[in-house]
Amino acid sequence: MAKVSINLATGSLQKEELIVGIDLGTTNSLVAFINPDGNPQVINDTGKGLLVPSIVHFQADGSIVVGNEAKEFLTSDPENTIFSVKRLLGRSYQDIARYRDFFSYKVIDDNSESLVKIKVGEKFYTPIELSGLILKELKERAEHALKIPVNRAVITVPAYFNDSQRQATRDAGKLAGLDVLRIVNEPTAASLAYGIGLKPDEEKTIAVYDLGGGTFDVSILKIQNGIFEVLSTNGDTFLGGDDFDRAVLNYWITENNLDPENLANDQVLNQGLRLKAEEAKKALSTQNLFNDSLNRIPLAISKQKFEELIAPKVQETLDCCKKALEDAGVKAEEIQEVIMVGGSTRTPLVKERVAAFFGKAVHDQINPDQVVALGAAIQSDILAGNRSDILLLDVTPLSLGIETMGGLMDVIIPRNSKVPTKAGRQYTTSVDGQVNMKISVFQGERDLVNENRKLAEFELKGIPAMPAGLPKVDINFLLNADGILTVQAIELRSGIKQEVEVKPTYGLSDAEVEQMLIDSIQHAQADVQQRMLIEARTEGEQMLYTAERFLEKNETYLQENEIVETKNYIEGLRASLNAGDKDLIHAKIDELNEYTRPFAERVMDMAISRAMKGKQIE
Ligand code: AMP
Repeated sequence: MAKVSINLATGSLQKEELIVGIDLGTTNSLVAFINPDGNPQVINDTGKGLLVPSIVHFQADGSIVVGNEAKEFLTSDPENTIFSVKRLLGRSYQDIARYRDFFSYKVIDDNSESLVKIKVGEKFYTPIELSGLILKELKERAEHALKIPVNRAVITVPAYFNDSQRQATRDAGKLAGLDVLRIVNEPTAASLAYGIGLKPDEEKTIAVYDLGGGTFDVSILKIQNGIFEVLSTNGDTFLGGDDFDRAVLNYWITENNLDPENLANDQVLNQGLRLKAEEAKKALSTQNLFNDSLNRIPLAISKQKFEELIAPKVQETLDCCKKALEDAGVKAEEIQEVIMVGGSTRTPLVKERVAAFFGKAVHDQINPDQVVALGAAIQSDILAGNRSDILLLDVTPLSLGIETMGGLMDVIIPRNSKVPTKAGRQYTTSVDGQVNMKISVFQGERDLVNENRKLAEFELKGIPAMPAGLPKVDINFLLNADGILTVQAIELRSGIKQEVEVKPTYGLSDAEVEQMLIDSIQHAQADVQQRMLIEARTEGEQMLYTAERFLEKNETYLQENEIVETKNYIEGLRASLNAGDKDLIHAKIDELNEYTRPFAERVMDMAISRAMKGKQIE
């Protein structure tokens, strides 16, 4: 294992080495590096192409393929082919329930706030593991193409990603064997690729317009003193180039009097027409007419017709831009630069309308599919300390966080964050009537707090007695320019609060920081595995708690055999908790859930009908 030298003042790596930039996308992912000329470049692993479709296929023999090879199974083996996993990352089932039909594979519905899981065959996968597989493929391609080991990366995420989604992305990196130096916002990376925001004295307000295949987002950023602040974001998670393809397809169906029902039954023809529609759309980015046929069905469309068809969709994106500007409190004419990201910004109408909306020419010189990955490579180069022209801000050398259920470290301020900084998260109680909450503050990169350095501990006392999950405790971390950390806990319903101050770097030598980082890199994969097991166990324990209380309260509404059977499932789950197998725990949770769901609904219906009866006027 190579030794890593860290400059404590900057948090940068001293050793000359390669750090890659990764754009982990919804449909496609890319990995880029800084080539020997000092320019960012997307890695092309011989013959495999620049874009890696973010798709994972589980083969019948148990092997796993990622990318183009997996894409081929989208239609032939949909249950075992996982696409769009980014939409699930760091999400609970409740977050995604509205659009569950979008997924052709099984997303576990436990109707809870815990993170979603995907069932493939008899195994359960978290979106973190699936994203980890994609990242691993990117890492291997980079290693293959560059012929050196790649262990460190900067990964981009949408500006609107919350803490949980960012943490999930970091964990996915760890599982892939990558030390994730920083999570960077996609619009920030795009801006860096255009060299905007690289000068320390630059002050600008910019808009980044990102229209991909299935998603649209726009971000308004303020750049000041080398810091990119997200003023607002807006968008639509189901709007993109796919809608343009669909518009063309529907036009051809109407023009040729095709029967939509027949078409729905003929998957081969349907898929063929879809591909032709996309081909037409792409062609119309550079020519005025597309003329072709499939099975003697004439497929022609002019650029003018195409633009007429997609104009309403383009207008929807502009409506989002308008809202983003309003939320940011910025006028269109105050935007100094407009950056285009995503394959669908190649459509001329999109460029024209966006330029007209902001009243200025847009930046479209860099390939819009690559711009985010290229910017991520620039960010990694900055972190590597290779750019003497760039001001490096003070950063925290180690992550700061608190202990949560099962002795896990919950990072609140990640390593490499610029100082000063503040961040916070909301927690709740795990037991009914809990009135005190112990807050233990830790520093370090390991997933278990036992392996990290304890900085402080205090108790928030006097939380009003409430059922578990109801109190809302905000924990805020504030790290000032002198490196003093203030941790504040406040229970929002009662207003009680408590705080503590520590200096995280006090008594910590450079050698110790270095050792902590090396340890975390060496144990990264095992750590994440262990964390997932503990999380599964915690989820299982909570499920036991809820199920047992449900039985106690509602025994009278249940039949004898239902009670016996539920108890069997409960015992099955209890027994699985210490077996050290997270898949088994998830399977038992799922079984208990599936079995009890109908009773839960029945009890609820009965409670409602009783309540209604009570209201009747005789
Ligand atoms: P992305 O998600 O950023 O990779 O964007 C992919 C989308 O860009 C897909 O809908 C593609 O059909 C679309 N796209 C790719 N090339 C072109 C092009 N030349 N003109 C218009 N759209 C394109």
